[in-house]
Amino acid sequence: MSAAPAPSGALRAELRRLFGFEDFRQGQEEVVRHVLAGRDCLAVMPTGSGKSLCYLLPAMLLPRPTLVVSPLIALMKDQVEHVPEALRNTVTSIHSQVGPEDVAARLHALGEGRVRILFVAPERLRQERFARVLASVPFGLLAIDEAHCVSMWGHDFRPDYLFLHRVLGGPLRGATAMALTATATLALSAEIPRALGREMALVRTPGIRENLRYEVVTLEDEEAKKRYTDRWARAAPGESTIIYARARMQCERLARMLQQGGLSAAHYHAELPPAERAAIQERFLEGSLRTIVATTAFGMGIDKPDIRRVLLYNYPSSVEDYVQQVGRAGRDGQPSTCVLLATRADAGNLRRFTRGDLPTLEELRRVWSALRARRRGDEDVVVSAGELARAADLDAQRKSPIVHCGVLERAGLIERRYDAGSDMRIAMLPPPADAAARLGALLERMAAEAAQRAEDVVAFGESSRCRHLQVAAHFGDVLLPPCTRCDICAPRLDPAAEAAGAARAFPPPPADPAGAILDAVGALRWPLGVAGLVDLLTGSVSAGYAGRSSAHYGALGALPRSTVKRWVLELVRGGHLEAYQEASRDGGTYAALRVGTRAGLPAFHAAPASGKRAGGRGGAAGALEPPGQPLSPAEQATAAALRAWRLEEARRIAKPSYVIMQDRTLQAIAQAGPRSLAELRHIHGMGERRIEEWGEQILAVVAQSEPGSGRRQGS
Ligand code: ADP
Ligand code: MG
Repeated sequence: MSAAPAPSGALRAELRRLFGFEDFRQGQEEVVRHVLAGRDCLAVMPTGSGKSLCYLLPAMLLPRPTLVVSPLIALMKDQVEHVPEALRNTVTSIHSQVGPEDVAARLHALGEGRVRILFVAPERLRQERFARVLASVPFGLLAIDEAHCVSMWGHDFRPDYLFLHRVLGGPLRGATAMALTATATLALSAEIPRALGREMALVRTPGIRENLRYEVVTLEDEEAKKRYTDRWARAAPGESTIIYARARMQCERLARMLQQGGLSAAHYHAELPPAERAAIQERFLEGSLRTIVATTAFGMGIDKPDIRRVLLYNYPSSVEDYVQQVGRAGRDGQPSTCVLLATRADAGNLRRFTRGDLPTLEELRRVWSALRARRRGDEDVVVSAGELARAADLDAQRKSPIVHCGVLERAGLIERRYDAGSDMRIAMLPPPADAAARLGALLERMAAEAAQRAEDVVAFGESSRCRHLQVAAHFGDVLLPPCTRCDICAPRLDPAAEAAGAARAFPPPPADPAGAILDAVGALRWPLGVAGLVDLLTGSVSAGYAGRSSAHYGALGALPRSTVKRWVLELVRGGHLEAYQEASRDGGTYAALRVGTRAGLPAFHAAPASGKRAGGRGGAAGALEPPGQPLSPAEQATAAALRAWRLEEARRIAKPSYVIMQDRTLQAIAQAGPRSLAELRHIHGMGERRIEEWGEQILAVVAQSEPGSGRRQGS
């Protein structure tokens, strides 16, 4: 099974010869070496990092064939298509869309030793006929893609993955096992080998996606989200964009809204007829369709390198899902933007949705009773998932009896055997005395883990810590902020509000925003809730009398509303502000805020702002892009040169890039094309300190990027 360790150069030569890649990417060679040496291995590497190669290369070098388990047909097809032409005829797959004759032909080729790699879905392993194949073909390697699906506590539990344990202990006892996933916390990295029953060498590469800008835009309500999405989508109509929404109806409505605005947009979800889905996907891949509004079903197994923008219209159900969804952007390594729209209401929806998705004790009872009712003597129960769902009266839209059976099996009440055709075959076990307690404990843990996932992703949205840092911390990676690639470390000002014309002058942000917020609350004569307080602090025209009459009205008016709101929410979470019920005028109550503890106030960092911003309803606008007037191609070139210089300079001084200049200023410089320090001084956002520090350099960058002479001056 194992080959002699190849010298580094030799392995690279094989990589070049077989796949045409110049060199290994981070982590790949280590994984390949483990596998070639016959060591079981778990690879945790980010989306797009090239996990497939980790089994494709060994599969081509090992003497015995490789079996790859992959959860989706779309993923399998994509993998097979991406195998280099010359190797294609040694790779095949068996799944539900392959007809019986083709299956027979493929198995025949496998038996004759003409197949190096066979892809199957995990369900296939449960089929008795396939079990015979496993017993007769000497597979040397089992590669398990998307291995996080094995975790019952995880975000993507697939009960069929649990069966892999038995395969690895049975027919594939002698094969090397490798597991691959993009999303595993440290805890999950330990759980996967346990669930598979193998000890595995762990290879982790950090999941930091350098080219992705993470933004969270906090908005008031659904209406504001729609407005934002509309403008955001139209700001870059030529770029490949995915908008993810939770519900199918939502996808359809948003797509219609964008189409009415003249955009090339379509919706995509699991209910569409397969032909239509395929056609939409095809148009998106070739680039004739730019914007897709989809449920998360879209994108798995799509290796489109140039997706520039991803917008999550709803909270994803976990940080893992967040990473997977935004991870579809920028696979070509080019800068790409990922925006999450956050509202309080949606955070609440997520929590409800998370709970509603889990099996309940009542449902488990019904499934078990339905199974028992079908039992004849000592024989196994044979039943299709659909029939079982109906018999147990499960909501077929949201619940799968396969998951319920997984839980019952874990509690020792049943054992799922090899499937009988497309039906499940289930042995009823004598119920353990503590069956109810076992089920209760399992459900409790599932609920706790699901709730934690929801809380984690909401905290990610509401916190004012570096987004990349938060993601890295979640997965146990280390990252030092500021990253310059998120809305926290490098905020954009609220350009939509700016575009409305700077009507009011606000004071520069205070040095200690948290203290200033508490001061404002402490001085309130009428209690306010979060929205009212944010209106007060940002100097919004929609602030009520309590806000407008406060001495602190507009104290943080120089900052985007979304930033201020995030800070307020963080102070509430930290107990620095306390929410309590206050009687409202209409006889009900509302959540008002009062000062809590001042101990351990967080140090919020305000972006140095121009001090001016329209006092309009910023809440609906959020951090919109791109700001201001569109740039001409020559101006775009200058802006790009300035950006590159700024990035380098920011690295040099180890400060976020906005400290040097904000995007808006950068754009103004690109448009104005200044030739002297005096001209530079006229540009909004270039204070004397910046001129002194960077003025000459900026002028040099502008001069160098000018194409020829005929550039206009000023704007
Ligand atoms: P993952 O499964 O980790 O999300 P894939 O295996 O689908 O990523 O690989 C993503 C892309 O990277 C594919 O287009 C693949 O061909 C490419 N790739 C993989 N390894 C290398 C390499 N060593 N050099 C260049 N490209 C690579
Ligand atoms: Mg993959």
